[in-house]
Amino acid sequence: MATLDQITGIIDFELADLEAAWSNSPILLNKNEIEFRLCYICKFHIERKNFAGINQNDSFAWTIDLINAKKPKLEFTNFIAVHQSCIENRQSLDSRKQLKYVKAMKWEFDESFWNK
Ligand SMILES: [Zn+2]
Repeated sequence: MATLDQITGIIDFELADLEAAWSNSPILLNKNEIEFRLCYICKFHIERKNFAGINQNDSFAWTIDLINAKKPKLEFTNFIAVHQSCIENRQSLDSRKQLKYVKAMKWEFDESFWNK
């Protein structure tokens, strides 16, 4: 489980946290959910292999964010996978309602657009 370093303020995430964040993010109907998810902030896809730890300068790289950052509990249910560049664009510190709304909609990867 993730731990917060009280001195530096840096959260140290573990592999299980990444898995939880990934599984909490919205799926794309026509894509393998192990490889692709939707970023609930910008509605673009996230690719599993493009993790921010490896591609630091890629704005489409994903990372973990907290769904409810108002009450920043370090629990699996509060982790979400998003693009690292999208975190600053989140609408609210508490994204639970927005996420519920986005997840209730059906999302598809636009093959015709991305495979031109
Ligand atoms: Zn995004």
